[in-house]
Amino acid sequence: MTRADVLVVVGAGVIGLSTGIVLAEAGARVRIVAAEPPLRSTSAAATGMCGPVFHGPDQRTAAWELATVAHLTALADTEPAAGVAITTGLIAAAAGIEQAPPLADASVLVRIADPDELPAGFGFGMWLRVPMVDMPVYLQYLLDRFAAAGGLIVERRVESLASAADGAATLVNCAGVGAAALCSDEGLHPVRGQHVVVENPGLEGFFMPGPGASEWASWHVHGDHVLLGGISVEDGWDPAPSQVIADGILERCVALEPRFADARIIGHRAGLRPVRPRARLEVEDIGGLRCVHNYGHGGVGVLQSWGCAQQAARLARG
Ligand SMILES: Cc1cc2nc3c(=O)[nH]c(=O)nc-3n(C[C@H](O)[C@H](O)[C@H](O)COP(=O)(O)OP(=O)(O)OC[C@H]3O[C@@H](n4cnc5c(N)ncnc54)[C@H](O)[C@@H]3O)c2cc1C
Repeated sequence: MTRADVLVVVGAGVIGLSTGIVLAEAGARVRIVAAEPPLRSTSAAATGMCGPVFHGPDQRTAAWELATVAHLTALADTEPAAGVAITTGLIAAAAGIEQAPPLADASVLVRIADPDELPAGFGFGMWLRVPMVDMPVYLQYLLDRFAAAGGLIVERRVESLASAADGAATLVNCAGVGAAALCSDEGLHPVRGQHVVVENPGLEGFFMPGPGASEWASWHVHGDHVLLGGISVEDGWDPAPSQVIADGILERCVALEPRFADARIIGHRAGLRPVRPRARLEVEDIGGLRCVHNYGHGGVGVLQSWGCAQQAARLARG
C-alpha cells in the first residue's frame, strides 16, 4: 500500500463522513482530513429534517434526496444508535399559497391540514411523515461506522486541496463553506442559521413554515429536547450563536406555541449553510490529482448526504 492508494476526503461534516463511509465500506483505504471535529461542524447545528422531497429546478437533487431518505428510514428501523426517528409533523405556507411543489414521493403525505389546524397567517398546510435526525447523535454514529470500516480521521486545517492530498491520487472535497477558499469558488457563500435548544415541554413532531422568509418560528422535537428556529443571515461568517438572534427565535416560538415560555433552555447551536446556485458534484483534474467535489448543499445537506456520498464515491472510483 503506497500513499497514492489512500483516498483522502477533506471535511468531517455529514457530507465528508457519509462519503468516507461509502468509500471505506467498499474496501478503500480512506483518510479524512478536517479542520474541526464533526460535533463542531455546521452539520451538528442542523435541524435534521429529511424531507419532503420535491421535484425542484435542479433535476439531480430528487434522486440524491430519495436515496438518503431510504437510507435513513432503514436506519430508523434497525439502528437506534443512529438517532433517526420517523416523525409526523406539519409544514405550512403563508396565506395566499394554496399548493406545494410536486412531491417526489407522495407516500410521505399523511393528509392536507384542516384550516383550523393552521396557525394565524398560514393558508395551506400538509401533515408529513419524514426522517428526523438528531444530528449530534447521528454524527457520532457516522464517526463510529467510519472507524469500524477502517477509516482514519486527521484533525488539520489545509490551505489547498493539493496539500491535503499529500501524495494521494484521489481526493474528495467535502469542505462545506470552507470550499469557498479552497476552490476560489465565488458562487459559494454562507447563510448563517441558529437554533435554541429547549427541554421538551411535552410536544411531538414538528412545525415548519415554508421557505422564503429570513426569520421564522419553527420547532422540531428530538425526544427529550426541541430545536427552535430559525434564521437565515446571508453572508454571515460568524459561527458563534448570537444572544440577540436567540431572543428573537424564542419570542417568535413562544407566540406560536405558548408551552415554550417555560421550557428550560439547554443550549444554542449555529452553523453556516454552504449555499451555491447548485451543489457541486463533479470531477476536476488538479495537476494530476483526481479531485471529486462534493460541496455546496445549502440548507438541505443532511437530506442530500447519502445520495451525494454514493455518487461522489462512484466518481472517485473513476
Ligand atoms: C440552522 C441550520 C439548520 C439546518 N437544517 C437542515 C435540515 O433540517 N435538513 C438538511 O438537510 N440540512 C439542514 N441544514 C443544512 C446542513 O446543515 C448543511 O447543508 C450540511 O451540514 C453541510 O454539510 P457539510 O459536511 O458540507 O459541511 P460542514 O458540516 O460545514 O462540514 C465541513 C467540514 O469541512 C471542514 N473544513 C472546511 N474547511 C477546511 C479546511 N480548509 N481544511 C480542513 N478542513 C476543512 C470542516 O472542519 C468540517 O469538518 C441546516 C443548516 C443550519 C445552519
